[in-house]
Amino acid sequence: MDFQISNRMRGMKPSVIREILKQMSDPELISFAGGNPAADSFPAKEIAQFSAEMLEQDPVGVLQYSVTEGVPAAREAVRKFANRHYSVVKANDDLILVSGSQQILDFVTKCLCNEGDVVAVENPAFLGAFLSFRCYGTKLVGVSMEEDGVNLEELEKVFAAEPKPRFFYCIPNFQNPTGRTMSEAKRKAVYALSVKYGVPVLEDDPYGELRIAGQAIAPIKSLDETGNVIYAASFSKIMCPGMRLAYCVCDKTLMKSLVIAKQGSDVHTNVWSQRICAELLTRMDMEAHIQEIRGIYREKAQWMMQLLDEKCPEIRYIRPEGGMFLWGTLPENVQMQDFVKRCLDKKLAVVPGNAFLVDENQPCQNFRMNFSTPTKQQIKMGVEIMAAVLREMQLQ
Ligand code: PMP
Repeated sequence: MDFQISNRMRGMKPSVIREILKQMSDPELISFAGGNPAADSFPAKEIAQFSAEMLEQDPVGVLQYSVTEGVPAAREAVRKFANRHYSVVKANDDLILVSGSQQILDFVTKCLCNEGDVVAVENPAFLGAFLSFRCYGTKLVGVSMEEDGVNLEELEKVFAAEPKPRFFYCIPNFQNPTGRTMSEAKRKAVYALSVKYGVPVLEDDPYGELRIAGQAIAPIKSLDETGNVIYAASFSKIMCPGMRLAYCVCDKTLMKSLVIAKQGSDVHTNVWSQRICAELLTRMDMEAHIQEIRGIYREKAQWMMQLLDEKCPEIRYIRPEGGMFLWGTLPENVQMQDFVKRCLDKKLAVVPGNAFLVDENQPCQNFRMNFSTPTKQQIKMGVEIMAAVLREMQLQ
């Protein structure tokens, strides 16, 4: 069969990271490439227990179709969780449970964008988001990043330009890939610009709970008095990604469209996952669990940074206050793609930084390292491989 692929999908490329991960079947490969949570952070014992109890006591409730917005008890548990530190769910907002926050990125674009529309994005940013946005034929306009978040002058120019962006995508906490955190002042400024120019903000916050240093900063959504901010958060990093469970909080008017988008896509989120999530939120000590994960990541991040300082002083990197990634910068005399390839030849996978840029062909000296998945031993071996590659390249 000679399939005629749609204009929308023709020319779309698979995610670089998912392609690298395909090579993971090689048991000798050390991966700093993925963004997987540490396997020892999964509440596997509790999930096994709650699952057995639910299937025993209410098999039909767990296995039957359910409502699109989410199982009521689970939605209520998640609403309380979302609001426990800040007022995230406002009076005019609704909350929907979705199959991973990737799905929110898809649905928001599906609901807000026509083909050819502009979406403003932090640049660099999460390439899975770019993929979702591009699947609807949108044009991405990148706004550069500074130490404390997006460049505000550039953002204002993009908001004021014609055509106006349909929304602005940002990851204020421990951004993927740079690990940067948007300052409180910038969050306020981004919200003010959103109101001034009428451009909604899509605040993607899958890593917010994973703070390993510094003081917590309120999400942009907590400042929202006008319904401008669409908030996305996920249980992938604090429960487990295999459950595919996340939530979106936004103004009720937009939520109506999101619900229809979901009906046309997967009808509703996996009921078993939602019910397990509700049990974990109500019966497990989530705060202690989150503290434990933070402890694991703090130790791994510090270990990776210490080894980089010792063995690869030429690599500069941003010290993240949380999340899962370090964003490395290579010296000018080291060609980044060549460095990444040589690391892979020596069985270390890292992600070339240009994969996260709106324009992948721009010059780029960066690469992304993940510290949550590898063991401490693998982190050491991986950094040693990078040191050997740097020696090899600088000697030539
Ligand atoms: N947003 C960002 C910034 C991410 O890094 C990821 C994946 N790690 C996602 C969204 C999607 O996560 P999930 O679908 O597992 O909730």
